[in-house]
Amino acid sequence: MTRSGLPDFDYVRATRPAEVVALLQERGDAARLMMGGTDLLVRLRDGALRPHVVVDVKHLPGMSDVRYDEQAGLTVGAAVTMNALAAHPAVQARYPLLVEAARSVASYQLRNRATLGGNLCNGSPAADTAPAALVLEAQMLLYGPEGEREVAAADFFLAPGRTAVGPSELLTAVRFPPPPAGAKGHYLKLGRNKLGDLSIVGVAVLGFADGTAPSGYRFRIGLASVAPRPLRPAAAEAVLADNPPGEGTFAQAAEAAMNGAAPIDDVRASAAYRREMVRVLTLRGLRQVWEGR
Ligand SMILES: Cc1cc2nc3c(=O)[nH]c(=O)nc-3n(C[C@H](O)[C@H](O)[C@H](O)COP(=O)(O)OP(=O)(O)OC[C@H]3O[C@@H](n4cnc5c(N)ncnc54)[C@H](O)[C@@H]3O)c2cc1C
Repeated sequence: MTRSGLPDFDYVRATRPAEVVALLQERGDAARLMMGGTDLLVRLRDGALRPHVVVDVKHLPGMSDVRYDEQAGLTVGAAVTMNALAAHPAVQARYPLLVEAARSVASYQLRNRATLGGNLCNGSPAADTAPAALVLEAQMLLYGPEGEREVAAADFFLAPGRTAVGPSELLTAVRFPPPPAGAKGHYLKLGRNKLGDLSIVGVAVLGFADGTAPSGYRFRIGLASVAPRPLRPAAAEAVLADNPPGEGTFAQAAEAAMNGAAPIDDVRASAAYRREMVRVLTLRGLRQVWEGR
């Protein structure tokens, strides 16, 4: 049952990653990390979670930094908000796909709180930045009892609500390698309305010339809201790598993407509608990327 208020909990504003790890080790499930709180506070209000302590990690050093380097690419602190990410000049110049994904999340007001890291750590199959993270082949930077480690986006999403973040770990940043030369990308989102709704289907498409592909061109596709976790439909990407780009190949790949989806019926849409929309949005995304190259 929906409750009208938040339960009682202790609030800790963490200042060092090691402090966070120690708290998680000591308190286990009774401690919960928070950044923007747009997912977490709703779950606390609804009684889905009952932590004794909420650990605010957004003020840790570097958590709100965005850095760009020609070699290393883009490093986005986990607590960078969607609006800050979308407004950053280097992100706009080099990663327009990420700008589209960030701007598709909820409403402007919510994007002032909602963070990139929170969106990914929530483990929602519908997370709008997840398809972009997949096709840009992002690396998640985690900090835990053994120090730092990196997890590829492809290995990060495990199941609804579950990611590769360990019980005593936190996400500190997301690194996006420099996109392949000449890459173009788009994120297409279908929701029940234009503002503030989770996606029924989300499709990211990234395309770039690649001499190692038989077709001379490669496309990466990322899907949200159509399976227990965000995914890349490998069969669709193989069709695109092996056949000359154009309408026939795009239609075949969009069909393969649809067949790679395993959606469910829920309040937002039926599984059958979602499957069909994967086909439609993938086809649309492939055309847009190809025409804009
Ligand atoms: C009205 C509304 C509309 C929404 N619309 C959309 C939408 O269109 N698209 C979309 O994708 N999402 C949407 N959301 C969901 C949410 O806003 C986003 O997922 C947001 O990006 C979450 O970020 P946050 O900083 O608020 O996360 P938080 O709520 O602070 O945290 C999210 C989860 O991550 C964990 N966590 C926090 N920090 C860390 C860390 N450093 N390391 C590991 N785990 C951590 C928390 O414990 C929690 O489980 C919507 C939510 C609301 C309330």
